Amino acid sequence: MHADPQAQSVLESITDAFFAIDGDWRFTYVNRQAEVVLGRGRDELLGRSLWEAYPGLVGSRFESVYRRVAAGGATETVTDFYPDHDRWYEVHVYPAAPGITLYFRDVTERLKADQAVREQGERLHQALQLLEGVTEGTEDLIAALDPDLRYTVCNAAYRRNFMRLFGRTIDVGDSMVEALAALPEDQAMAVALFSRALAGETVHVQCEFGDTAHARRLFDQRFYPLRDADGRIVGAGEVAVDITDQAAAERALRESEARFRTLADNMDQLAWMAEPDGRLTWVNQRWSQFTGLDTEALLDPVQRRSVVHPDHLAPVLAHWAAARERGEPWEHTFPMRRADGVDRWFLSRALPIRDEHGAIVRWFGTHTDVTRGRETEAALRQADHSKDEFMAMLAHELRNPLAPLRNMLALLERRQDAELLPKALALMGRQVDQLGRLVEDLLDGARIKSGKIGLKRERLDLTVVLLAAVETSRPLWEPAGHELALALPGEPLWVDGDRQRLEQVFTNLVNNAAKYTPSGGRLRLGAQVTGDAQVLVTVADNGTGIPSDMLDQVFTLFSQVDGQSPRAQGGLGIGLAIVRSLVQMHGGRVTAHSDGPGRGSEFRVWLPLDGAPG
Ligand code: ADP
Repeated sequence: MHADPQAQSVLESITDAFFAIDGDWRFTYVNRQAEVVLGRGRDELLGRSLWEAYPGLVGSRFESVYRRVAAGGATETVTDFYPDHDRWYEVHVYPAAPGITLYFRDVTERLKADQAVREQGERLHQALQLLEGVTEGTEDLIAALDPDLRYTVCNAAYRRNFMRLFGRTIDVGDSMVEALAALPEDQAMAVALFSRALAGETVHVQCEFGDTAHARRLFDQRFYPLRDADGRIVGAGEVAVDITDQAAAERALRESEARFRTLADNMDQLAWMAEPDGRLTWVNQRWSQFTGLDTEALLDPVQRRSVVHPDHLAPVLAHWAAARERGEPWEHTFPMRRADGVDRWFLSRALPIRDEHGAIVRWFGTHTDVTRGRETEAALRQADHSKDEFMAMLAHELRNPLAPLRNMLALLERRQDAELLPKALALMGRQVDQLGRLVEDLLDGARIKSGKIGLKRERLDLTVVLLAAVETSRPLWEPAGHELALALPGEPLWVDGDRQRLEQVFTNLVNNAAKYTPSGGRLRLGAQVTGDAQVLVTVADNGTGIPSDMLDQVFTLFSQVDGQSPRAQGGLGIGLAIVRSLVQMHGGRVTAHSDGPGRGSEFRVWLPLDGAPG
């Protein structure tokens, strides 16, 4: 090849390999780069036959290409790998009439890049397929949007939900903004969330979505930016979980727990729960209030057990352990100690709670305060007993006046002499009076019980009433040889009351003082005004006295102090009950005092003074 020097220098300077072969297949030109590719110096090659210099070419696919081009064919290009160089060349074979020129372009880098792109594409494809496979099976909603808020990914669950919530289909390529056009609020919310992710933020929220005409559901959602290899944000991803049912279940659980606590804390019983081994794990507020123990103290068996009355602890523990062992409901009645040290009786019950296999998982128990029931029962028994005694006494009291009456009648039947008559009349009159008094007392007792006593009120001077009472009961205290001291103020004591009933009150008290004091005793009746506009009347004696545990009880109907000295005039245990009722009806109160048996008694009655000018 006889190129001019300028062309030659151009050919030399190009970085691709270039050489020429003439019509006899001899090298006529080899540039510097071609020397590298051919692996030989141009001195060695120029003038030599191609087939001779590279016998390996004979029979190769290159030979047929070269010959085709040399025979006047069109330019051809062959790409091949040159293992000696570890490079790929794109060989352009040009016809050169005669001969051919070959131009080697090193395409290794380009091919590598192509290869990389292809491989990446394949990996991406695989990844997408994998993603599709993974996400189709899941109930998690997965989607990705490009910066224009168009879907680039939306899995089956997402598409299903979209249909359920908004009643329309959605697919890759759709615009989210358009898809949600009918629901501006949901649209605005979704746009805002995706926009935050597109701005680089990772967002975790719980939001409700959906057209109420279809469904409205609560989702736990995560939005995050999608970045390319260089860290540029190219989209936003969303992974969401429908938590509607879960939230409803949690709410229901919370509500039922709250209901249980309210119930448990407001019930009258002390309630508790225990492990199968008997350890307490929970108590309601009442339990803590009653025992004064906080939940921490529960953990300490010594403190916990201190709640049970010490005399009952051993049997209670044994009983409870036996119930646990047998897995049977437990029931036991025993006293427990309140925080202030007072013992109350409780009916305790516990039921085993079992799992689906029948194994006991815990015990639920209650303590019901039965103290009042027990007291009522005891009171009823006492009342019943008192009534029996009362009936016996009543019969006795009624028979006492009857016997002399019957005797006297029999006597009069036999001898109707005038001498006997006045004596007989006096005796019979006394006995009939006594009978009348008993009947009156009985009637008053009955009226008190049924609340049928009415007061005829007037403004009256209590000192006058007191003096009248002293006179009425004179037949009792005078014959007994009692001395009665009066301590009344010089001026009137005005009260608003029923004259007859108040006289009955004080006659009863003076009668009692006389009755329950051995002959020759000292009685005292006093009255004084107190600081708070009341009058205090005291009726005192130095007689049999009252045991301290009876001081309150003497005021209950039919109650009498056992074993008192023989009663002068008898009685039905009604008097003081009438006294208390009448005093209370007058707005006052009455109390009994005594230093004990044999040391006398004092009854104090307070009545409000009538302040109105008389
Ligand atoms: P009664 O005198 O008819 O038995 P009361 O209701 O008047 O009934 O009194 C009830 C009981 O209270 C009496 O039975 C007696 O035991 C006791 N009692 C009342 N007054 C006195 C008193 N002054 N001294 C001692 N005991 C008394």
